[in-house]
Amino acid sequence: MDSVSLDNHQEKRKIVIAGAGLVGSLCACIMGKKGHHVALYESRPDPRSEREQALAHGRSINLALSARGRAALARAGLEDVVISQAISMRGRMIHSPDGSKKAILYDPNTEQCIYSVSRQFLNEILISEAEKNPNVSVHFSHKLVDSRMDKGKLTFRKTDGNSAPTEVVVESELIIGADGAHSALRQAMLKQPMSNFSQTYIDHAYMELKIPAKKNGQHAMDTHYLHIWPRNEFMLIALPNLDGSFTVTLFMPIPIFGELQTADDVETFFTREFPDAMGLIGKEYLIKDFLSSRPSHLISVKCNPLNAGKGVLVGDAAHAMVPFYGQGMNAGFEDILILDNILDMYKNEPVEKALTRFSQSRVPNAHAICELALYNYVEMRCLVNQSAFILRRFLDYR
Ligand code: FAD
Repeated sequence: MDSVSLDNHQEKRKIVIAGAGLVGSLCACIMGKKGHHVALYESRPDPRSEREQALAHGRSINLALSARGRAALARAGLEDVVISQAISMRGRMIHSPDGSKKAILYDPNTEQCIYSVSRQFLNEILISEAEKNPNVSVHFSHKLVDSRMDKGKLTFRKTDGNSAPTEVVVESELIIGADGAHSALRQAMLKQPMSNFSQTYIDHAYMELKIPAKKNGQHAMDTHYLHIWPRNEFMLIALPNLDGSFTVTLFMPIPIFGELQTADDVETFFTREFPDAMGLIGKEYLIKDFLSSRPSHLISVKCNPLNAGKGVLVGDAAHAMVPFYGQGMNAGFEDILILDNILDMYKNEPVEKALTRFSQSRVPNAHAICELALYNYVEMRCLVNQSAFILRRFLDYR
């Protein structure tokens, strides 16, 4: 068993982060810039390796980045570079069953917009930026397997593919759990008395498809919109990519996915519900993609408190939500801004006190956005067809 003790760093905290997804890697950038001594541990191999990029190829999805997320990227010094590789979406483009379209701007007065950005690009740039800092170390293929939040002690299982796994024990003053919706740190936290937790799978799932670029490399639909095909019980959405393609996501009740088993079933369904989208995806490509994919499930997680001992949860580990408000990553990024502010405010106090303050301030917001995200599914797939008035009151992606 290897044992790693982080060097003492005057007046700065020794921080261990579990999970180098979007939120964990942003956290490493921001905490590293502050001079904290940061060790970032990730269960998967380096996503920048050729092998991992090949695995991600074809299934990399894009995300809507909003003002909250941009503010956090700005603190990491990355807002401009990310926006330069993103596509602005200034509103929704609603596609009716008869093929007609209607644009609804998010904010006609100030032209505020959201941005479509590649998840893979964002994760890679965040990890690379974190690594540039000499007081940040990044460790891939290290899976969190045991935690002692009272002592600030974590055990990771290290696998390099060649030799037998080894255990690495790490000690720190602050443990940040950014290990996603099925967080191992959260599991450990729930053993503490007074830990409240709920998780809900909705009975709808999603599948990702793709509208390829036109032959000239241009987008096949209006570029600067979030495209929505609302069909009451289900919906299709599409976000633009830099290469001229759109990532298309079908959200639908699980039993309906189950009914679409053959090429005929898929063709009949899309001809009836989304004929224009089928034309853009390409019938053969659509059928092949649909029948070779499995729908993914959608989970909503609430947790209170978000801290125990020297440990705290952020991002999906703290508040995984359904994606209909486009705020999962954005809210996770905002967690890091708030945590950073609170650590500054409590810099001369025990870390436990700062984490309790973080949890108290974050839980009501996390629960609210989880609820809003659930509501916005109804809004997007259904109400958007019915009332422009309701639309204006419940604009998504704020
Ligand atoms: P994750 O991205 O899940 O990262 C967690 C990391 O921890 C992973 O790298 C994982 O490998 C690692 N890990 C897990 N277990 C361990 C362990 N035991 N030890 C070490 N490492 C571990 N959000 C938006 O803001 N805008 C959008 O438009 C948007 N669209 C979405 C569309 C879909 C279809 C879905 C499903 C989600 C969408 N989201 C969106 C939500 C967004 O993807 C998440 O909120 C975001 O990825 C959360 O980041 P995270 O770093 O907290 O968790």
